[in-house]
Amino acid sequence: MDINKKTIRDVEVTDKKVLVRVDFNVPIKDGIIQDDNRIIQALPTIKYLIDNNAKIILCSHLGKVKTEEDKATKSLAPVAKRLAELLNQDVVFIDQTRGEKLETAIDNLNPGEVLMFENTRFEDVDGKKESGCDQELADYWASLVDMVVIDAFGTAHRAHASNVGISNASDIAVSGFLIEKEIDFLNNALTNPNHPFVAIVGGAKVSDKIAVIKQLLTKADYVLIGGGMAYTFLKAQGYNIGDSICELDKLDVANEILSLGKDKIILPIDVKLNNQFANDGDIKVVSYDQIPDGYQGLDIGDQTIELFAKYIKNAKTIVWNGPMGVFEFSNFAKGTNSVCEAIKDNPEAISIIGGGDSAAAAISLGYQDQFSHISTGGGASLEFLEGKDLPGISCLDNK
Ligand code: ADP
Ligand code: MG
Repeated sequence: MDINKKTIRDVEVTDKKVLVRVDFNVPIKDGIIQDDNRIIQALPTIKYLIDNNAKIILCSHLGKVKTEEDKATKSLAPVAKRLAELLNQDVVFIDQTRGEKLETAIDNLNPGEVLMFENTRFEDVDGKKESGCDQELADYWASLVDMVVIDAFGTAHRAHASNVGISNASDIAVSGFLIEKEIDFLNNALTNPNHPFVAIVGGAKVSDKIAVIKQLLTKADYVLIGGGMAYTFLKAQGYNIGDSICELDKLDVANEILSLGKDKIILPIDVKLNNQFANDGDIKVVSYDQIPDGYQGLDIGDQTIELFAKYIKNAKTIVWNGPMGVFEFSNFAKGTNSVCEAIKDNPEAISIIGGGDSAAAAISLGYQDQFSHISTGGGASLEFLEGKDLPGISCLDNK
């Protein structure tokens, strides 16, 4: 994957019909958007195109659409409304993914106007055309416009008709500012980090993060491990972990990582337990080697919080992927919250969140502005950090 690619700065966009693939796959509950970070992060590209008098056509997927019934809750209409508020200008919403209504609306666009069409995955009901990267569909979308801009970082680890397909179908396809920014931050952290470089990895399962931990061990000075995955590491070392989440088939990998990591891996020294998977119950904090049966670890303890904070406060580069505990329960959010606090206390460091749930946690805990960069792509940033090729970006190579 060539990381230095052409962006919208490098092409003439004035008066051109520009199809922009954004990632507006945002959480929506009862018609209300729960987190608009992805919409906000797409604004620089959209505003640039408005300021340069392009005719802007936006497309995105939203959730999974398998049946006709799924369409009722998977419309992008609420996103178009939110975008109009953020832009302070009208956004024409077309409730179709193809056809005369869409084509006429595109033809009627004036320079500086914005149109958004319906969820690209509505095309999945009829034979997975979007998710299966159907080239006929992609050719059709590309035929409606003069050029294509790919700015959906959150979808970059997938090859869809609306990213890889339209890029292949179009003579002119360039990246937007969000993809440029995401790659800049992640690539700099991996190839040119300021040291000490501290990686923080958590989340439920070690199996999701094996490749990323191995990769980070070759780049970072320290890898702090918290969250549910820590118990697989403790178990692998022979400690009792009670009812804590554990992947028994990953004990060997955990030991392999521990010997690879040696002095780099920092595990919790105390943990916060509950006698049930719930916010309330019999809650107590114990040392990592004193977990009794009948209890499960749902957060890191106060000594671990202090220990992790020391590493974080000394760091010059911080990459974080995965919460430190079940932050969805307020009694077990302190570990995750404290990582945010420690990062906030070290504004000199480059700090990047690369996980979907950790990003949501940091935003919901009010730390949105305390990081250098909160990635809009959980899966995509994970795969980038693992060193994998991202098809939704490499499709722009040689363009
Ligand atoms: P990210 O999306 O940031 O990469 P993951 O998807 O890997 O993070 O993990 C997030 C989930 O991990 C959260 O839903 C959280 O509740 C869960 N989790 C964290 N710590 C624990 C734990 N000790 N036991 C069970 N689940 C945990
Ligand atoms: Mg997740």
